[in-house]
Formats: sequence, structure tokens, C-alpha cells
Amino acid sequence: MTAAHRFVLRGGTIHDPAHGRDGLVADIWIENGTVVGAPADPAAFAVVDAAGLVIMPGGVDLHSHVAGPKVNAGRRIAPHLARERAAGPAAVPTIHATGALYAALGYTTVFDAAIATGAAAIAHAELDDLPILDKGIYLLAADDADMLAALTAHDMHRCEALLREKMHAGRGWAVKVANPGGPSFWKYGRRGDHHDLDTRLPERQVTPRQILDRLVRAVQSVGLPHSLHVHTANLGLPGNWRTMLETMRTFDGLPAHLAHVQFHSYSGGDLDEGSFGSGVAPLVEHFNTRDTLTLDVGQILFGDTVAMTGDSAAAEHLAQATGTPWMSHDLHLEGGCGVLPIAYKEKSLIHAWQWAIGLEWFLTVTDPWRVALSTDHPNGAHFTAYPVLMQLLGDEAFRREALARIHPAVRKRSPLAGIRREYSLQELCIVTRAAPARIAGLAHKGHLGVGADADITLYRPSRDLARMFSMPAKVYKAGILVAEDGTVKALPSGRTLAASL
Ligand SMILES: [Zn+2]
Repeated sequence: MTAAHRFVLRGGTIHDPAHGRDGLVADIWIENGTVVGAPADPAAFAVVDAAGLVIMPGGVDLHSHVAGPKVNAGRRIAPHLARERAAGPAAVPTIHATGALYAALGYTTVFDAAIATGAAAIAHAELDDLPILDKGIYLLAADDADMLAALTAHDMHRCEALLREKMHAGRGWAVKVANPGGPSFWKYGRRGDHHDLDTRLPERQVTPRQILDRLVRAVQSVGLPHSLHVHTANLGLPGNWRTMLETMRTFDGLPAHLAHVQFHSYSGGDLDEGSFGSGVAPLVEHFNTRDTLTLDVGQILFGDTVAMTGDSAAAEHLAQATGTPWMSHDLHLEGGCGVLPIAYKEKSLIHAWQWAIGLEWFLTVTDPWRVALSTDHPNGAHFTAYPVLMQLLGDEAFRREALARIHPAVRKRSPLAGIRREYSLQELCIVTRAAPARIAGLAHKGHLGVGADADITLYRPSRDLARMFSMPAKVYKAGILVAEDGTVKALPSGRTLAASL
């Protein structure tokens, strides 16, 4: 064994919320890619001086879109956003750049949150080329005819058998449902209009609510590390907060993860100033009292990006509302996706509301352990914008300045103006690594205890949180120094995270 395989990060300021360490100065010992206890032979460990640096576990992104047909469609439909730009990295970077950019940002694990079972092999082939990070996929395992038939028949044995089969064949980490029953409505010509959770699917004796209820139980019985990952119906539509509330009620007492809640929290009946608004308050009130539920926010940030979703109806609705060309991609008629470029603008009423609604979620949920920071990359914003989002959460003055620039109606009506809460460093650490690791079911990640993967990020502390979090001093992946001051130092291959069944 060489000294390089054994080292100690000496004297850093540790943020390890899973072990209650909040700014404690301590040493972290690493051997063969794993955190170990203080050794009997400290002289055998190389010393890395970490004094004055903030040490956190590597970042974990539990909801992103980095591989598979929709990402490739995004590059095709918006080639101008697939190149590096003066303003920053490509909105839809290559798979290689994706790994390098995540690592330079201090992230060491990423999940693609929506891969059709028929595209699993392609997605894995692409992800094999994503360097550095450990990575996994959530399978859209509920869209095909076999599974729908089993769900409709309420044949739980068959549902569980199918889930095991698909998860095994597709090497999935979790099961995702995107607009439950949505592909059926879509195939039968039901588009972006509302259907509620109790509308029967065309030609089937089953409702979206029954699909959610049966699927969440099947996922629980199969024993996957992550609970059912739910993108509920009516994404992006005014008044859809009711659908989200009904979704949460459907899961009462059952473990489920609610994806990109920002896109599901709109009040009103139309897209105009007098009507559209925030439906967050009643949703948070419910969420705060239901500890089996977790969520990621899907924050939007202002700028150019590409929307991509397994929910074709939502993409079509958005394309029609904005007059933007879009792409619909079908996979064996048993799943699909919609893709279109989008520019979020501060002065747009709707975009300003979306921005404020995401922040309202972050700042009114009481337990950060049930929240994962996400922008639903690239739907709400590029993942490289996470540091800006962290500053919006952790620096109220910065947030107030940003609020002063958005559409005046939103500034006036959003509860955000009255919210003083600031995330502490410890809370930022929770929502970017400790909580997403725990929520995703990654026992060896998101913490720095003995036995943890040595995925570790060292930051230079700064009042300017966006600056602090955008350029870590050092990033280790499985004990290997992979990035330093924004420069990638090594490109080891990460592991594929597949649930063992
Ligand atoms: Zn997503």
C-alpha cells in the first residue's frame, strides 16, 4: 500500500450532520477510499492540511437528468445550448463534461431521475462514460402495458414480480412514476388539460390515484433503497396544488418521495396576474406533519435552459403556452418524453412566481432532512447554479436583492417577502448531501463516519456563499483527489449504483 492510499485531512472544520458534527474541528482519516477511525499508526498516513477549510461529505444529487434519449434530444433541439457559452457551461453538457462539472462543484453522486425501462441499456452505456461520480438511474417502471395491466387488476404479486424483473434487467436504483397513467391519456389524445387523480385511464378500470397507491406499496414490498419517486399529475398547470395535496393524501403513512414540488404548487385557474399564484402554504402545512414523505424542490433560476420531462403532455402544454418548438420522443409506445428550450425571465409573471414558489418551499418546510436541493437539472436551472441557490437560502440580504428585481405583482403577493429564515451552513450541508443520501438510501454516503465512502469536499469559508460553494478547494471521490480550485485533477470511473434485490 502506498502513502497515497492513506491520508488524513488535518484540522478542518467538519460539517457532518448525520453525526451531529456542526463546525467541529477534527481530523478525518482515509484508507483505501473509505473513512476510517483514528489509526494506531498515524505516521503511515500522509497529512493534508485542512486547517481553516470547511469539510463536508461529497454532494449527492438525487434528481437530475444527465443521460438517455431525452438528454440527447435536448442537445439536438437546442444545439446553441449544447455548446459551452461565454455565460457558463453548456445547458446540456456532454456526458464527459457533466461528470467533470459536477466533480469540480463538489458533487460525487448523481441519479438520473427518469429513464424508460426500454432505454435503460442506452442510459447505462452513456453513464459508463460519465467520469468520477457514482451514478444510478430511476426507472419509469410503471408505464408499460404489462405493469398497467397488473396495477389495474390489483394483482400485487404480479406488480412486485414485474418490478423486480425490470429493476434487475435495467439495473435501476429506484422506481419513478412520471404523471401516473399519463402515457395512457397521452396515447389516447388526452393532452395538457387537467385530469385529476380519480379520472379513469382510457380503456382501463384504474385511476392515477390507484396506480400511485398500488405502486407505492409494491415498491415498499420489494424493498428498494429509495421510496417511490413521484412526479404527480398536472405538472406546470395553474391550480395544480390540489393535485399535489391529493397525492400526499394518497400516500398517507406510506413512504414516498415527491419530485420537483415547485412545478406542482400553483394556485389559480389561469396564467394571468389576478389568478396565478402560490399554492405552497397548504401543501407545506400538510407535508410538515407527514414524516414518511420527502421531497426535492426543482427550483428554477433565471436564464436559458432546456426543459425535458417524461411527461409529454406537460411539455406540449408548455410549448403551446410559449410558442416554442418542441420534440416528443416515444419509446416503443410505452413511455416517452417531451423536450424544449426555455428562458426563465425575472420580469415574467409566471417565471417570477415559479422562482418565489420554489424558495417558499425551501424556507417553510421545517425539517431539512426531508428536503433535497435540486433544480431538476436542466429543467429549472443548470446544476452549476446550485451555489447561487445555496446563497439565496443562506443569505437573506442577497435574496431580498433578487426579490427586488422580479415581476412586481409577485414581489407584492408572494409570502417570500416576509420570510426571514436563513439556512445555516449545517442546513445547506443537509439539503445538498446528508438528506439526499439518506432519502435515496445510500448508507455509505452523505456522512463522514467510519465506513463512509471517502467522497469529501473541502471549501474555503466565505460570506459570499455562491462563491464558496462554486469552487471547492479540494474534492475527493473514493479517496482520490479529483478536483482542486475548479480544475479537474483525475478522472477515475465511478460505480454504477444498482439496487440489489
Ligand atoms: Zn426531473
